[in-house]
Amino acid sequence: MSKKDQSDKPSESKVNPLMEKIVSLAKRRGFIFQSSEIYGGINSIYDYGPLGVELKNNVKKEWWKAMVQMRNNVEGLDSGILMHPKIWEASGHLAGFTDPLVDCKKCKRRFRADHLLEAKGLKPDFRPASFSEEGIDCPECGGELTNVRDFNLMFKTFMGALEESSAEIYLRPETAQGIYVNFPNVLNSSRQKLPFGIAQIGKAFRNEITPGNFTFRMREFEQMEMQFFVNPKEADKWFEYWQEQRLNWYLDLGVNKDKLKFRKHASDELAHYAKAAMDVEYDFPFDQRELEGIHNRGEWDLSRHQKFSGKDLQYQDQENKEKFTPYIIETSGGVDRCTLMFLLNAYTEVDTRSGDEDAKHETEVVLKLDKRLAPIKVAILPLSKKLEKDAMPLYEEIRKSYMCQYDDAGSIGKRYRRQDEIGTPYCVTFDFDSVEDKKVTVRDRDTMAQERIAISELKDYLTEKFC
Ligand code: ATP
Repeated sequence: MSKKDQSDKPSESKVNPLMEKIVSLAKRRGFIFQSSEIYGGINSIYDYGPLGVELKNNVKKEWWKAMVQMRNNVEGLDSGILMHPKIWEASGHLAGFTDPLVDCKKCKRRFRADHLLEAKGLKPDFRPASFSEEGIDCPECGGELTNVRDFNLMFKTFMGALEESSAEIYLRPETAQGIYVNFPNVLNSSRQKLPFGIAQIGKAFRNEITPGNFTFRMREFEQMEMQFFVNPKEADKWFEYWQEQRLNWYLDLGVNKDKLKFRKHASDELAHYAKAAMDVEYDFPFDQRELEGIHNRGEWDLSRHQKFSGKDLQYQDQENKEKFTPYIIETSGGVDRCTLMFLLNAYTEVDTRSGDEDAKHETEVVLKLDKRLAPIKVAILPLSKKLEKDAMPLYEEIRKSYMCQYDDAGSIGKRYRRQDEIGTPYCVTFDFDSVEDKKVTVRDRDTMAQERIAISELKDYLTEKFC
């Protein structure tokens, strides 16, 4: 919930060439669409198409595997999007989850006051008596700006039939609070002892004033968060531990090391709840920006929920008879932002002239996604439509284990290019010889090496490649 960041500056509206290519590929190949497009779209909401949903699911699957499945001391959770409104009072979101906002009196556009002030070399939290006196007018039309208002980013709705303040309820702006309030439930039902964590993936909603940069900043998005409950004496150790773990997760999935950075928050930048904070940042085409936050939240969350709920949320250590409020180390990342990062990281343009300098200059797009993230794992490509009777049973067999496409349209070169562009790691060509020798040719996306494999061994071959 750190709102004191270097989030969207006015410059974000400038279109970046690489971003343009990604947005176009995402739409053309069915990764990501503008929501409600036939009605003119709805700002900063996006829909994931057939390939996008696979990619995003794979990102979540890899996170869950690394954070829950492979650990003895992290449990999973799926809590409600709507929660008791008092939770947002306790968490500080009702009072403090705000952005400073100004309106243009003429064109009615809205801007983040802190960004306008920063652009003028002033402190972002400075509150001028009048923006005009500081020489700041509307960046769009030059009109006069209003004074600053604090704008709460939570979406509000009503529960039940009555539209009155007692029925007001909020769409969660983060998944973390669902974890904190379930701390005693998970502790008691899972028989865990400290230190242990609770992980959750789910939707969050923020009425961002300046959304932008495609799926980088949305109003409806998904988070993957893990809250690790520790003895306060061990908090520093675990804070270090989780930084390393998270960095390794990105590197293991093929993220370019040079583009990943850790940025420690300065003490005046820390959110009210944080004892220490570190952002994992990625060098996005528009700027170096936060992918994930790793925070030592101290005892803030549990002590606040203890106060507001009146329930004892302290931990009784049976071994050394200590009773204390656990500290929380959190890792908090965005699924959509991470998925966008993986698309950018994988996007590669390959010159197809292959050494022949006189040949027409052509570039092919290859999405060099890690195999685990690739939306389609295997493509079955019969050399001719006439081979359908023989090739189709192979497709039916392979799709039992992998997301698989059958494509018999166009030249084989074109079909390879179609698969390269969506990051399919293996293309299996079924040719006329295959009918006789019961072998197929497997082409590797990255090396373009081709191997002749017996159909009877194809499943084992793929298992080895994907394990
Ligand atoms: P930012 O600094 O970009 O505003 P934040 O510090 O407010 O993010 P957190 O509250 O720490 O973000 O949320 C954790 C993660 O959730 C972020 O690192 C980011 O990946 C993701 N996230 C937050 N807001 C959005 C959004 N509007 N759209 C997409 N992802 C988001």
